[in-house]
Amino acid sequence: MNCYLCQAEADQREPTQGGQVVVCRDCGEYLISDVVLRQLPSKPLNFSKMREDLHRQRQSNATSRAQINSETAVWA
Ligand SMILES: [Zn+2]
Repeated sequence: MNCYLCQAEADQREPTQGGQVVVCRDCGEYLISDVVLRQLPSKPLNFSKMREDLHRQRQSNATSRAQINSETAVWA
């Protein structure tokens, strides 16, 4: 599959409750929720701001996976 943020080749982990886990060499590992995935075709994410936010999430909470969900999504 391709990364939802940068469109580069990425790995997909086994589906998680409520979303998908993507491991991208550039964007790192993140969980993207089903709700956001449903909105993606009509509402693209702001790639650079979203990556900054994932980075911020990892810094503030290193133990949990960075998430793209309805609360954290940054739309273009
Ligand atoms: Zn990526």
